[in-house]
Amino acid sequence: MTATVVVQSPRPVERLVRGQATSDGAGVRLTRVLTQDLQRRLDPFLMLDAFGTDQPGDYIGGFPDHPHRGFETITYMIAGRMRHRDSVGNVGLLVPGSVQWMTAGRGVIHSEMPEQQEGRMEGFQLWLNLPAAEKMQPPWYRDIGPQELPQWQGEGAVVRVIAGLCRDVPALVQRPATAPLYLDIELQPGVEFEQALPSTHHAFVYVYRGDVTVADTHVPAQRMALLAQVEGSDGVRLRAGAEGARALLLAGRPLKEPIAQYGPFVMNTQAEIVQAVQDFQAGRLA
Ligand code: MN
Repeated sequence: MTATVVVQSPRPVERLVRGQATSDGAGVRLTRVLTQDLQRRLDPFLMLDAFGTDQPGDYIGGFPDHPHRGFETITYMIAGRMRHRDSVGNVGLLVPGSVQWMTAGRGVIHSEMPEQQEGRMEGFQLWLNLPAAEKMQPPWYRDIGPQELPQWQGEGAVVRVIAGLCRDVPALVQRPATAPLYLDIELQPGVEFEQALPSTHHAFVYVYRGDVTVADTHVPAQRMALLAQVEGSDGVRLRAGAEGARALLLAGRPLKEPIAQYGPFVMNTQAEIVQAVQDFQAGRLA
C-alpha cells in the first residue's frame, strides 16, 4: 500500500514558544499562547488563548459583557459548557467538541459564561484579524455542534476541520481574504500526519496532549512551534510521540496591514481605535 504523498518539502520549526499565564474576563485563568508581540510574525492571527482547569475558581467568573470590533473570535471547546449571549440577540451553548465563530465586524457586545458549577473546563479562543475593508461589516455568528464539525480520518488519525481544507474535507467556514486553516489533529502513538500549506502563509502548531515531532524538532505539550517561512516548502509533517498527541495547526495568508489594538478593539489606525472607544461609550456597539 502506498500512502498518498501530500508534502515533499516540509517546513522546519523556527522556534518554540511557551505562552504566558494570565487572566482575563472576571478572573478566568488562562495561557496566552499567541501574545501581542507575535501579531506581526503570525499575521493574520492576533491571539490564541488556551484554558484548561478542573478548579471552578479558575473559570467561574466567566467573561461578562464586553465589546469587540474589527476581527473574529473562534472558540473551540474540549471540555465543559459555556453560554454565549450577544447584543445582536444570538444565544448559544458551547459544548465539548463545538465551535463558535463570531465575527465582531463593526461591533458586538457579548458575554461568555460557564454553564456549570464544577468539573473540567477546557478549550481555546483564537482571534482572527479582518482585512481593513471588512472590519466594519455587520456582526455575524455561527455555532457548529460537535456532530456537525467536519472530520478527516486516516489510519490512527482524526482531524477536526475548523477552518480551511484538510485533504478533501472542507470546513464549514471559509475566509477568502486570509484563507485560514485551523485543524485539531488527534494522532495515535507514532502516527505521522502531513498537511499541505502555501509557503507564504504564516503557520504554527500548538500541542495540548502528548508530544509531536515537527520536521526534526521535538515539541512537548503546552508549547507552540512557529513554522519557518521557507520558499519552496509545501507543508508540514508531524509525528506523534509514544503517548499519542493532540495538536492544533493554524495557518493563514498575512494581511500585511497596520495593526492597532486597544484591548478588545483591533483596527488599522489609532484614530479608528479612538472612534471604537467613543462608539462603545455612546452605546453605538449594542
Ligand atoms: Mn469576547
